[in-house]
Amino acid sequence: MTAEEMIMKNVAFVKSEIARAAEEAGRDPAEVRLVAATKMNDVERIRAAIRGGVDICGENRVQEMLEKNAQGAYESVPLHFIGHLQRNKVRQVVGLCALIHSVDSLGLLQEIARTAKRRDQIQDILLEVNIGGEASKSGFTPEEMEEILSEAAKLDAVRVRGLMAIPPICEKPEENRPFFLKMQKLFVDNCRKKYDNISMDFLSMGMSGDYTEAIRCGANMVRVGTGIFGPRNYQ
Ligand SMILES: *Cc1c(COP(=O)(O)O)cnc(C)c1O
Repeated sequence: MTAEEMIMKNVAFVKSEIARAAEEAGRDPAEVRLVAATKMNDVERIRAAIRGGVDICGENRVQEMLEKNAQGAYESVPLHFIGHLQRNKVRQVVGLCALIHSVDSLGLLQEIARTAKRRDQIQDILLEVNIGGEASKSGFTPEEMEEILSEAAKLDAVRVRGLMAIPPICEKPEENRPFFLKMQKLFVDNCRKKYDNISMDFLSMGMSGDYTEAIRCGANMVRVGTGIFGPRNYQ
């Protein structure tokens, strides 16, 4: 089997697992979007994942994304930004990415809003929640949510479309369940409130090791890298 065939087969497997988890949770499998986490994978491998049927590509690093985009890597699917975004790179991401998952500070949110406004665009974003309360991670605490949502409501060039989280690294997927359930509650609670420019449509959580668990806890966007492309080569 070629590397491309392997990737397509992996996508088919991930999609069947997504469908199974959604059905177990009594939900429509079609409502769960599969984001291929494409970092460190080249154009050929990304195209194989798209042919295999991923819904979206998600990149982590701006420079890498721009290079691969120039080579036409993401043609035919939306491109999302899922990595930590520095404020000085915002202008390269706004407009290019249909959704920025990783808005983790008020300063970043405001920079995105300023950039989009200047260009007469509206940028869709997710707010990243530091659900494990980890000092090493950025993101908003659940307690900060209300304040950040009312700030976001004032920024008419950004539209908050939901929440994103990366729970602490766990040995077993079940160990993430309490974090995923906390996210689900936060998502549902904030869905009920009415703010301008905010529609809580997406709950982005779950990676290769735990996406089925995340779906059972309400995720409707999962970000899978290793499960599609195999282990990354960090050399
Ligand atoms: C790399 C990455 C993923 C995917 O991780 P895997 O464990 O390889 O599936 C998901 N989300 C973010 C933000 C990532 O950087």
